Amino acid sequence: MIHLLVNATVLTMDASLPVAQALAVKDGRIVEVGGTDEVLWLREDDYEVIDLEGRTVVPGFVDPHNHFSIGAFETLWADCRGARSVADVQRALAAAARETPAGAWVRGVGYDHHVLGGHPTRGDLDAAVPDRPALVMHFSHHQCVGNSRALAEAGVARATPDPPGGEIARDKSGEPTGLLFERAMSRAETASREAWEARFTEVARAASRRYAALGITAIQDAAVTPAMARRYADARAAGALAIEVGEVMVGARGWFERPDDAAPGRLKIFVDGGYRCAMRVLRDGAPRTSGFLFYTREELTALLRAAWRADRNVVCHAIGNLGIETAVGAIEDAVRTMPEGRARVRIDHAIFLTAELIARIADLGVWVVAQPSFLWDRGGAPTPDRATDEAIRVRPFASALRAGVSQAFSSDYPCGSNAPLLGIAAAVTRTSREGRVAAPEEALSASAALEAYTLGAARAAGIDAVAGSLESGKRADLLVLSSNPLECPATQLASIQVLETWIKGVRLNPP
Ligand SMILES: [Zn+2]
Repeated sequence: MIHLLVNATVLTMDASLPVAQALAVKDGRIVEVGGTDEVLWLREDDYEVIDLEGRTVVPGFVDPHNHFSIGAFETLWADCRGARSVADVQRALAAAARETPAGAWVRGVGYDHHVLGGHPTRGDLDAAVPDRPALVMHFSHHQCVGNSRALAEAGVARATPDPPGGEIARDKSGEPTGLLFERAMSRAETASREAWEARFTEVARAASRRYAALGITAIQDAAVTPAMARRYADARAAGALAIEVGEVMVGARGWFERPDDAAPGRLKIFVDGGYRCAMRVLRDGAPRTSGFLFYTREELTALLRAAWRADRNVVCHAIGNLGIETAVGAIEDAVRTMPEGRARVRIDHAIFLTAELIARIADLGVWVVAQPSFLWDRGGAPTPDRATDEAIRVRPFASALRAGVSQAFSSDYPCGSNAPLLGIAAAVTRTSREGRVAAPEEALSASAALEAYTLGAARAAGIDAVAGSLESGKRADLLVLSSNPLECPATQLASIQVLETWIKGVRLNPP
């Protein structure tokens, strides 16, 4: 069967033919892109003509930094992303506890301490879930709160010292409050997911269809433990993944730990923290550092070279300007003896940049994978600590593009909103859902943002030979949109609907 999609505005992302009217799909691949008449000539014995009546077709969105293996559980865990108070978090956890099978931790996701007016405490969680371990994750996924049972099972007690690269929050008397930062949450976070992971195939089946409905046709899971890598193999064998999922591996002891025991494949290295990323700022004229830096430049250089020698690609998580500086310095050092490494490393997040760091990244030619949807979710306003240094720019997408940085977009879901069209809207308008505008001079054009979420993202993920643009020979991963993102007013980008999602030539959405 050949499918002929005609009378459309096809935004191909192919520089040799940026806009076409029609395309033909056969055996899961695109076999022709061009004018409606040319494509209609390809009718075979068994064919289907789909008249799109002027609607817009774009390549399927690629999300190279997504946490599918935790996001897939969102329907089973307490969703605290909309919680306005600690009482909301308690209610959500208590409700989730009623549905949580024996032997599993009660899990919550996505609370924002700014909205709650502070972090919940172990006591707050004990009141909601007194009889079994419960853990609620901050939206950043770099800090979490456990109840008393969770702390006991994770070995966090008054006498427990803070681990290197982490902190156990304590009250005035020295008792842990339940709040765990960065590497201090490794044991609790790992234990909290263990029992749930047995249901991965089931939740992945439904979640991958939700992703497809948003227009996402390929992702990379940015943190896959050895246990999850086995679950992914099971899910694939069962045919449960409706979208393409690549894996970026972390170790078994926790996401932020050294990934010495990571499964084979693409490797993730957390260079600095998340919410408490490594920053160097000038305050009242004096330099001041803050946050968690997990490696020195020398340690990271050695890790990069070892990974490349083992034929692995590396994704460096780096958020703060000191974290990014460490990553950039280590890449510069490592490629001096292994120049082929340039194509085998990328920097993800790169939120707090300076003009100097932008220039060094552009020189290196490595990909940066950024997350515009955070501008939509919570505005771009830096915390007061970070605002004091005028050299630091927050998500400076336009400056990076002008400097020649290879920039791709992603969601970091469930840390950020999953819908690519929200991310594209945020990159173009720099406006939050509440209407707050952040550094409007860093806005991108709609076409640059669309490219960063399609072809750019596919290049950053290393799958551009088959995905990211609509060209003959590539996989037929494509979307039909309700309006043309390059022509509609910027304020309407966020409300564009994905009418159809095709993956490998099969229409998945609507089913
Ligand atoms: Zn992430």
